[in-house]
Amino acid sequence: MKYWQPKFETMKHDELQELQLKRLKKTAAAVYENVPFYREKFDALGITPDDVKTLDDIKKLPMTRKTDLRDNYPFGLFAVPKDEIVRIHASSGTSGKPTVVGYTAKDIETWADMMARNFTMIGLDASDVFQNAVNYGLFTGGLGFHYGIERLGAMAVPSGTGNTVRQIEMMQDFGVTAIHCTPSYGLYLAETVREMGVADKLSLRVGCFGAEPWSSSTRKELEDAFQIKAYDSYGLSEMMGPGIAFECQEQDGLHIWSDHYIVEILDENGEEVAEGEKGEIVLTSLTKEALPVLRYRTGDIARRLASECPCGRTSDRISRILGRADDMLIVRGINVFPSQIEDVLVRIEKITDQFEIYLDRNKKKLDEITVRVELDEDAFTGEIGDLAAVKRVVEGDLKSVLNIRANVDLVEKGTIPRSTGKAKRVFDRREAI
Ligand code: ADP
Ligand code: ZN
Repeated sequence: MKYWQPKFETMKHDELQELQLKRLKKTAAAVYENVPFYREKFDALGITPDDVKTLDDIKKLPMTRKTDLRDNYPFGLFAVPKDEIVRIHASSGTSGKPTVVGYTAKDIETWADMMARNFTMIGLDASDVFQNAVNYGLFTGGLGFHYGIERLGAMAVPSGTGNTVRQIEMMQDFGVTAIHCTPSYGLYLAETVREMGVADKLSLRVGCFGAEPWSSSTRKELEDAFQIKAYDSYGLSEMMGPGIAFECQEQDGLHIWSDHYIVEILDENGEEVAEGEKGEIVLTSLTKEALPVLRYRTGDIARRLASECPCGRTSDRISRILGRADDMLIVRGINVFPSQIEDVLVRIEKITDQFEIYLDRNKKKLDEITVRVELDEDAFTGEIGDLAAVKRVVEGDLKSVLNIRANVDLVEKGTIPRSTGKAKRVFDRREAI
């Protein structure tokens, strides 16, 4: 089978636009009726959903940012009653609280079909055995892929993360043909496969890698190590999760499903960039019920590519992600904002408000985050035990907010250079992957 939903995947351009307009009108009406946040925005702009007459009218609609989700934490932007929500997921917010996203039963169906489309697109079918080596839980990557694998009818191996040797044993024992993980974990798996000397005992033929940026040299490394084709998977919780854009077998740009999303590529002023230029991906959901989102500023930078593709799919296409418009860091696939760290630190006594963040990649090719903070003069008792106690508090508070462990490096007051301008707080020493 070549397509999962051929009607939508290969729809003619004008028909697709007609469908988009119909769905955009419906989405605008839904948020206007059901989400006070959007109603207020529409009122402030002096517009109603009836002002959406052409696709170009999307420019009149308000933008949405991650902070809007946080300000309406947890369920304030949901457009349906809580009874209709069958699942939530969460991802890290810009500071403090995470952002929570919700799904109706139909949303889960839509997402599963979108994933099954992606899998079909890269040549998988019911005969495949698919190991999903990402975190299950509040992150969207686990269950998002899982439901898609089952929808396709393939055999899901929900291995989750960790225990790398066991992961590789599973690949051998279960005859795993496809795997999903972050590219950095993929590199570590590859290294472990080499050390175990079992490369020729694996049946892998396809890998899906996402949740963090990676390069074509990493693609080559992964493809050579596992003898697979490696595909880029892009997504974000606010738009469902993984799978909203995915590479096809051409491995030249990602299809972003136009029957479900409208893509704009905008400059800093919110204007569409010139054709082929880099800009921020701004997405509008067209079919999401629980949490419809208008013009979401993803913060991800990419280029728009011509929509014609030899694979026959007619969706919009984007380049791989080329960077971030804001200061968000991606550490082990998890979003980390320096402002979150600052937020934690200012609330802790016994340390100053100066800090630095160091990012490194360890021997296992996993990201390590180290936060260097200064001990307050008054807090310095000369007792090692007291120092350890301060360190523990900082580590504990950071862990609970970031959802990943951060090393804490306590230094003497005055060690961190004071800046007279914009302080350079982040030192990313990871080699690009
Ligand atoms: P996730 O569970 O994937 O981390 P989030 O919603 O928390 O989901 O994070 C989404 C962000 O992760 C995106 O906005 C983007 O910055 C990054 N991301 C996801 N997939 C990719 C990818 N294939 N390439 C580069 N960055 C990605
Ligand atoms: Zn294609």
